[in-house]
Amino acid sequence: MSSYHLDDLQISLNRRGASRYQKVSYPVHYGIYSEIRSAQYTLCYNRNGLITTIQGRNQDWPHPAEWLKRTLGNDWVYYFSGNYSNIFDALGEYYLPCFPYPSNSLWNRNPFAEPEVHKALEYTLDQLPAQVSKRIPGRDLEPELKDFLTAVAGTNRTRLWERSCKLFSILKSRVSVLPPDARHVDYDVLPVIIADGCVYNCGFCSVKTGQAFQARSRRDVQEQIRGLCSLLGPDLKNYNALFLGQHDALNCDPDNIEYAALRAYEAFDFAGSAMRDPSLYLFAGADSFLNCKESFFQRCRQWPYRTFINIGLESTDQNTLDQLKKPVSARKNQEAFQRAQEINERFDTIEITSNFVLDPGLPDNHWSAFQDLTRHSLKHYYPKGTVYLSPLSRTRRKDQMRIFSRLKRLSRRPTYLYLLQRL
Ligand code: SF4
Repeated sequence: MSSYHLDDLQISLNRRGASRYQKVSYPVHYGIYSEIRSAQYTLCYNRNGLITTIQGRNQDWPHPAEWLKRTLGNDWVYYFSGNYSNIFDALGEYYLPCFPYPSNSLWNRNPFAEPEVHKALEYTLDQLPAQVSKRIPGRDLEPELKDFLTAVAGTNRTRLWERSCKLFSILKSRVSVLPPDARHVDYDVLPVIIADGCVYNCGFCSVKTGQAFQARSRRDVQEQIRGLCSLLGPDLKNYNALFLGQHDALNCDPDNIEYAALRAYEAFDFAGSAMRDPSLYLFAGADSFLNCKESFFQRCRQWPYRTFINIGLESTDQNTLDQLKKPVSARKNQEAFQRAQEINERFDTIEITSNFVLDPGLPDNHWSAFQDLTRHSLKHYYPKGTVYLSPLSRTRRKDQMRIFSRLKRLSRRPTYLYLLQRL
């Protein structure tokens, strides 16, 4: 690490943050990053000199342990501590992510309406780049400092937006939702799309594209990987998690899933990442999961990842599935849930998790069927096979929270809310 002063700015280059993702109730920086401290803010930049986090240091900042983080898709997410009340219980994380776009959060917190958050973004994206670009000429600066400051001077809104557009063009898509398990790596996943569209195109769903399921070719996958390597450059070293998109990647040919997972591991050099414990995330449906042969899981176990497969079941009550217009039978969903638990018990590097819907207007049998799976069929608590409840809307939030708390208290599997987060 090297440290410099530039007038009122304290600059540290190539700092080493934590090398493993942690669940803690204070801000943590991961991997290798650089930092600028001004009187008002602490700003962190990735290895391409692009802003990643902003934390206020002044009295007007909403809370000393809260911060803003910019995602690969160029969304700002505000990390709200919730005064450490029931957030961990509900999400399995110490912070509530607040998004600048509509989601299904049950909290009524909009930090983006706060003047200080607005000011911090203006300082970072407008004022600081302009100030830094005026300070570079005529100074005798170390080459590494000059390179960093030149990148900071260019980190304005337009440049960041253009980079995210480049990402979407490499993927030929935007990731409309990430699996809930991506919370284990603070949603810092590299996305590679191996299939578009959806097998079911359920009536209730707000994240579907409406397209029929269509697997991508290996050539397409290879092009995306190459494009990501070139876009991320030196900052690839800060990643070790892969999302194989989109909504039902497990419906692809198992050989192609393996190809994408292993090719990405090698090309992104996850073995040489500054972060430890590589992980892989993908979505599945009941059919694609039940169609997976034992040999797939045997192969998956050999991969250099901890693998999380999230199945969107929504319910094991037929009336509820009909109401949701999800074209899968309750019996098939029950079968998928049982098979998931069997895989969870036998494969220590694989975790199959499942999603269910949460809404006070759903039939009573939805809740009793949920309890049959998560309580009555189990003798004791199981630490694997996390079950997520996804609020269908933001109405009657108190009722939703009350239902969730009751189900969680009775559940014998880890049970959390699923907030829809895009990339
Ligand atoms: S709920 Fe899942 S399977 Fe159904 S349409 Fe949405 S993404 Fe597709």
